[in-house]
Amino acid sequence: MKTDAPIVVAGDRPFLARLEPYLQPWGALSCESPTLDRLLTMLQSAKASIVMLAPALVEQDYIKPLKNQSHLAIVYCIAVNTDPAPRYNIATISTEVGLLTQGADAYLELLPCPQTTALVAAEHQLVQAYLQVAQRYLEQYCGLMAANDFLSSIALADPLTTLSNRRALEWELTRQIQRAQAQGNPLSLLVLDVDFFKVVNDNHGHQAGDRVLQLLAQRLRNYLRSQDAVFRYGGEEFVVLLKNTDNGGAAAIAQRLRALIGEHPFAVDRDLTLTITLSIGVATFNPRDDRDGRSLFQRADQGLFEAKANGRNQVVNLDQKTG
Ligand code: GH3
Ligand code: MG
Ligand code: MG
Repeated sequence: MKTDAPIVVAGDRPFLARLEPYLQPWGALSCESPTLDRLLTMLQSAKASIVMLAPALVEQDYIKPLKNQSHLAIVYCIAVNTDPAPRYNIATISTEVGLLTQGADAYLELLPCPQTTALVAAEHQLVQAYLQVAQRYLEQYCGLMAANDFLSSIALADPLTTLSNRRALEWELTRQIQRAQAQGNPLSLLVLDVDFFKVVNDNHGHQAGDRVLQLLAQRLRNYLRSQDAVFRYGGEEFVVLLKNTDNGGAAAIAQRLRALIGEHPFAVDRDLTLTITLSIGVATFNPRDDRDGRSLFQRADQGLFEAKANGRNQVVNLDQKTG
């Protein structure tokens, strides 16, 4: 059986020659006595995830760097000993132990020089079986990674609006603060809350309320630039992260969002059109803010609180006030 994962074989010339007949069907790539850098480059360009290594290379500590390559999802390493001591010898066992301890995922021993065609055929089957195990392992790993990606996307998405959720904001906010600091770019944050949303539910039912939230989320997403990120923070409250945006720019965007929502009714269904308004707090990251985004968020939230207290349907920018 041919494995789909590209294979690289690395060792000295006799090692490559010994393995070559067994690997022909797989189109494995040979890498003769490579430096670590050359082997890494080869793995990268071949996108190989199975490596068959001579023990000498394992002993030179090649495996750890191979496995730590971020561009490779995973590398399965088989240490192949083509020159073992006689079987059941303590030296053989300790070679195997050493190679596995140094990171090999499997240890394969071949005879120094198989004398009969039956032995060659048996070894051929043995190599094939090892590669099948490697293939199975990689398939399981990829399956787990795909499941992991899927679960992460569920964990970070809000099912009603499909916006990112509060957990996603917690991740993203710290990341964006780090980035803004490293690049010296401004970063602003808006907290938006629908005014008197309870009345929408009370008057038109929870389903109509849900639909309004979906339409609102859609409108926010369509309006914002691709570099901006919008999150459903909870209930009828949303957060917008504005990259590369100073306080003046953020206040202007907040005013435009307020108008975009408050001045254009939502068609909830054929018979129901509703107008809602937003109160919005604005804040811009400054060097006194903590790196987790707590103080930044609190300032925007305080702005929102004041916008509510001042009569709603308005933007409050506390950073502008304190100047
Ligand atoms: P305020 O202007 O002070 O924000 O008033 P409000 O009515 O918007 O605020 P309040 O906190 O009193 O009520 C929020 C309402 O939002 C009550 C809650 O049922 C509703 N809500 C929260 N999440 C959802 C949701 O997912 N779907 C629907 N339909 N309603 C929701
Ligand atoms: Mg509200
Ligand atoms: Mg609220």
